[in-house]
Amino acid sequence: MNELTKILDIIKRPFKLEVKGGCQDQSVVDGLENYVSLWSDKGRACSLNISETRILSELNRLFENYSHLSPIERLNRIQDATGLIDSFNEDVQVENPDFIGEDLPLFISQSRNSEFGVLPKVDVVSDGEVSDDPDLSRLKFLRTSVQYVRGIGPRRASILREVGVETLGDLLEYYPRDYLDRRNFKQIYQVGRSGSYETIQGKVVNIVDFLPKRRGAPKVCKFMVYDETAVAALVAFGKRGGYMQTLLKIGAELVVSGKFKRSYNEIQTTDFEYEILSSEDVELIHTGRIVPKYPLTAKLTQRGIRNWLKTALDEYGDSIPEVLPLEIRQRQNLMDRPTAVKQIHFPDSHQRAQAARTRLAYDELFFLELGLALRKKLWELQGQGITFKTTSDLLEKFLLFLPFELTNAQKRVFDELKADMASARPMNRLLQGDVGSGKTVVAAMALTITIDNGYQGAFMAPTEILAEQHYYTLNSLLSPLNLNIILLKGDMPKREKDEARKSIRNGDAHIAVGTHALIQEGVEFKNLGFVIIDEQHRFGVIQRKTLRSKGVMPDVLVMTATPIPRTLALTVYGDLNVSTIDELPPGRRKVDTRWVPEDKRQEMYEFIEELVEKGRQAYLVYPLVEESEKLEDIKAATEMAEHFQNDIFPHLKVGLIHGRMRSVEKQDIMQSFKNGEIHILVSTTVIEVGIDVPNASIMLIEHAERFGLAQLHQLRGRVGRSSHKSHCLLIADPKNEEALRRVKVMVRTNDGFKIAEEDLLIRGPGEFFGTRQAGMPDLKVADIEKDTQLLERARAEAFELMESDPALEDPKHQILKAVLKTKWQENFDMASIG
Ligand code: ADP
Ligand code: MG
Repeated sequence: MNELTKILDIIKRPFKLEVKGGCQDQSVVDGLENYVSLWSDKGRACSLNISETRILSELNRLFENYSHLSPIERLNRIQDATGLIDSFNEDVQVENPDFIGEDLPLFISQSRNSEFGVLPKVDVVSDGEVSDDPDLSRLKFLRTSVQYVRGIGPRRASILREVGVETLGDLLEYYPRDYLDRRNFKQIYQVGRSGSYETIQGKVVNIVDFLPKRRGAPKVCKFMVYDETAVAALVAFGKRGGYMQTLLKIGAELVVSGKFKRSYNEIQTTDFEYEILSSEDVELIHTGRIVPKYPLTAKLTQRGIRNWLKTALDEYGDSIPEVLPLEIRQRQNLMDRPTAVKQIHFPDSHQRAQAARTRLAYDELFFLELGLALRKKLWELQGQGITFKTTSDLLEKFLLFLPFELTNAQKRVFDELKADMASARPMNRLLQGDVGSGKTVVAAMALTITIDNGYQGAFMAPTEILAEQHYYTLNSLLSPLNLNIILLKGDMPKREKDEARKSIRNGDAHIAVGTHALIQEGVEFKNLGFVIIDEQHRFGVIQRKTLRSKGVMPDVLVMTATPIPRTLALTVYGDLNVSTIDELPPGRRKVDTRWVPEDKRQEMYEFIEELVEKGRQAYLVYPLVEESEKLEDIKAATEMAEHFQNDIFPHLKVGLIHGRMRSVEKQDIMQSFKNGEIHILVSTTVIEVGIDVPNASIMLIEHAERFGLAQLHQLRGRVGRSSHKSHCLLIADPKNEEALRRVKVMVRTNDGFKIAEEDLLIRGPGEFFGTRQAGMPDLKVADIEKDTQLLERARAEAFELMESDPALEDPKHQILKAVLKTKWQENFDMASIG
């Protein structure tokens, strides 16, 4: 045994760690290049012969510039170096295998690269062994830039970046949309009669060029392919022909899939794909099998993406990490993940492709639900909430003054709220119900309990205008109780704001109404006990964390007026409990909704005038986005109001209301509208919520095609609030399919649930939920509408797992934790569990 063997051993020691760490050059303090060079210098000092010096120089060379290499290249270098050392050792008689490990450079366990900081650190034991789970390092490896995949490189990587593929992992998850079945070869004499795609194999026996018949027409090039039964002509035009000529020589063996025709006395195809069979080991990736079809861009070709995926799968397919525990996979009867990824791209059969899709969809849904389960757990574990006493004099008084009987649905939902309030667990509930179903009333009831228990309530709306309207609604609902309700708005004079803040801080304010800024910007509550978040139809992420950071543990109620089917509610609000008001107060009438063509405008005005003369009132709405009511929009609305007053309805009183008006002005206008002094109210979408004038039974919406479905439904909810028949008239000129569908849905139904479903269908889940609810994982294969069963299964497993191992501490669950963290752009504070 010589010294050199020992040195080579030392050189080899960090390799394993390095590979497990994803080849980030973090296994030794100064980087592998320095490390190897240091030890090979020592080795040189004791080498005896040329072959010994050579291996050291060879090693030096392999690690030259190591820190600048790609992780994949680094992996190659390490494999080469390992091979070198191993084969050297085989040649040397090992006499004394003991180590000289005392003065080794220290291994480091800290990740230096913050990009990888989210992943669990690889634990290092002093002898160079790393902690088990190979899937963890595989997971890390998937983050290697896609440019290092053989055949890709920086230029192609930039094409891939356009479709969101940055890393090897992204590439492997660039799933096909569909497949072509090209498994069954035919003999050429058989093809050309079916009209569908057929696959043949044969040799190129002749290549013929035709000059274009007309000037400017493309050149035609024919490749004659023969298979001993017949000849088929592959006809290519223009550039394709030229390109094929550079690739295909006479004698080349091809597999061709195409639509063959029998015309001009020959079997020919213009619609085909082919694969050159260079040697027997070339797998038929484009033809001769079930072939994937990928979503493409102008620069991304089917052939290109298939080749890259084939390479990536061949080289790294076996390094795809398994992310689910074995028990779950067995219980759910799922294919293993590496196989699933391979099979979804290049399936052996349609059944396998289906099984692969199921597995991968399951993963997506599982991690979605696991994140929700964790959120829920974290919420529940946050410690004690408030235990409210739910028998309340204030509530009694409120009910006494309430001019109507609660609906059964309202009673049921209120009982659910009361149970939450009485419990020590902080409430975290979603209240959904159609426009006008009476959510605000129920929320106000919860506020009376809050105040009676000595706590303050907060009511948050997505925009200032909506906040203002809630403020008025609450004021009128709660007026008999003599409460101090405060409005806090961004555009209030500083003095008023300070005043409002002060009364919130010292507890004079019982209820504070405002936007989300109420919670976010340094507003201090004396004793916040109940928070209502009105999400309206914008599904957004609720900044519940900010509440926590304020050191308060209030009950939280999220209200939405766009009810969604239960499974969807579970998906998007899966960490909340859901209450639904599924019944409208009695006396509500279906609003008769029509789509009015532009040329019927005059008749429509006459119709409105007629109804107003009978005593009704009307809203005329212009499509302005409430947050950004621009001056020119305001101007348009103002001019319209003048036009209506002077030219169309000179005998009636026309009023105008918009978001840029001062609150008092708006209040005045609304008051005169309520009193019937204004017959026709021209408005922007400020009236979307909260406005309640039962006598107003006509709504005309201009440019209805510009509104979203949820918003149209909200607007329409302002009429149909009395026993008079109500009308909603949509003037729309839909320029696309989608807009047309929206208008048609409005005409067809009044049911908020149906409208939400349609909306979801039209827009797709991504957009419907406000495009990737900040932090929520992306669904690439799973479809939350179609995969409801799979979703329920994944949900059950995820929630069960969270019960059994809430902090994901089990070593078997480390991979789950790592995947969860990468999928959810949210920093789960798992340290707070347990
Ligand atoms: P939402 O917030 O769900 O849109 P609101 O609570 O604002 O609904 O109620 C809409 C209108 O219906 C308001 O005028 C409200 O006073 C009235 N209302 C609520 N509940 C009832 C009920 N049970 N019976 C009759 N009218 C009701
Ligand atoms: Mg309301």
